[in-house]
Amino acid sequence: MSQSYDYDLFVIGAGSGGVRAARVSAGMGKKVAIAEESRYGGTCVIRGCVPKKLMVYASAYSEMFEDARGYGWSVAEPSFEWGAMKKARDTEIDRLEGIYRKMLNGSGVEMFDQRARLIDGHTVELADGKRISAKTILIATGGRPALPSFEGVDHAIVSDDIFDIETQPESVLCIGGGYISLEFACVFHGLGTKVTVSNRSTLLRGYDGDVRAHLIEALEHKGIDVRLGINPVKIEESGGRKLVTFDDGSTLTVDTVLAATGRRPNTNDLGLEETEIAMSKGGAIEVDAYSRTNVPSVYAIGDVTDRVQLTPVAIREGMAFVETVFNDNPTSPDHELIATAVFTQPEIGIIGMTEEDAREDHDVAIYRSTFRAMIHTLPGREEKTLMKIVVDKASDKVLGVHIVGHHAGEMIQCAAIAVKMGATKADFDRTMAVHPTSAEELVTMREPVAEG
Ligand code: NDP
Repeated sequence: MSQSYDYDLFVIGAGSGGVRAARVSAGMGKKVAIAEESRYGGTCVIRGCVPKKLMVYASAYSEMFEDARGYGWSVAEPSFEWGAMKKARDTEIDRLEGIYRKMLNGSGVEMFDQRARLIDGHTVELADGKRISAKTILIATGGRPALPSFEGVDHAIVSDDIFDIETQPESVLCIGGGYISLEFACVFHGLGTKVTVSNRSTLLRGYDGDVRAHLIEALEHKGIDVRLGINPVKIEESGGRKLVTFDDGSTLTVDTVLAATGRRPNTNDLGLEETEIAMSKGGAIEVDAYSRTNVPSVYAIGDVTDRVQLTPVAIREGMAFVETVFNDNPTSPDHELIATAVFTQPEIGIIGMTEEDAREDHDVAIYRSTFRAMIHTLPGREEKTLMKIVVDKASDKVLGVHIVGHHAGEMIQCAAIAVKMGATKADFDRTMAVHPTSAEELVTMREPVAEG
């Protein structure tokens, strides 16, 4: 290390991306420090993916208790205790945060439990006023929920707040048609809360049309009130309840309003303006293909760059950063063909192009199957699984796979390997089915949907 700096690397933000980059760099013998003003693990571990998924598991039991009867079980009337779930979930998150801290400590990363901001391309200042220099600075401060602006929006909570709720609300309005609104709508519904979802357009805009239609039908069939093409204009509080007025004049009174209308990069008061680090209009740090900002010694990864807001992407960007900066191997993170899952109930798993996008540049064949998964037969549950494969007719290449149903997230991870490798529909067809599974449908759809 050049003797003129305190550290080889200073990371601001101990979320998934920042922790990975810090830990791997330290493992390579670099002198590394990290600053975190909140808890170690960031959005994903503390107030996002992980506690959310634990709540998804909790909420799925209500249907499992019902379905168990179809398999011969007699089940006493189940009851759910929000406080018990919260306590178990919070204990697990504490454990995971402890692991993050232990891993950093074990790799020799020095941790500063306070806010840091940039002073210049090689200097950060901690909240206690201490200044630290580093040869390279990595900004990995993530994102935060973005509130829409309308009268009384302060009466709404955001996703971060869900994890602090002490008493289960009897009714919830989830504003937004994205991942967060829909995942929590299903969680609350499964736990017994009365749920309404509203969005100004449709649900999951940009997703394949069949996927959207299938999900909307499934949510409504469960009893979730889905109101599309409307936007709230006012929230008034009365006696602890919230009266919401929409732009079509309709109203709704609920205990809790969740505003899940997107997330913005966390760039406030980071010293970026003073350091002249280029930012987009939306407040994201602009970076090149190697996650480098316009200040050569400063890099940025993860949601703060607003490339793809997903944990595994931030981690990959962190790994590519380490390769580039500390292993003399310029590596650009690959943002092509990212599989993703939405943990609604039913779950969604997708990789690649929607039919609508594919049709813009390709002559496509569409393979689609809708069926009742075997697990639902004895309980008599109506829920259907949707599988859809979008194929380029000219090359036979699979352009997209879309699944809505039980374990779609698990299935799409495996399908994604094939799609990423450039598999053709013939490759899918010559793969022997695993029977009896839902996933076998992916390799047994022989006839394309009739055109016209
Ligand atoms: P999304 O961008 O997915 O969805 C935002 C929703 O809010 C859209 O339906 C949008 O409507 C609506 N909206 C946006 N702005 C306004 C506004 N001003 N007024 C009213 N409605 C508005 O955001 P989320 O908050 O759901 O999630 C943020 C990100 O977090 C996601 O992009 C995802 O990458 C990540 N995430 C991933 C998860 C996973 O992998 N399972 C889980 C949770 C989050 P419209 O469509 O009309 O624009």
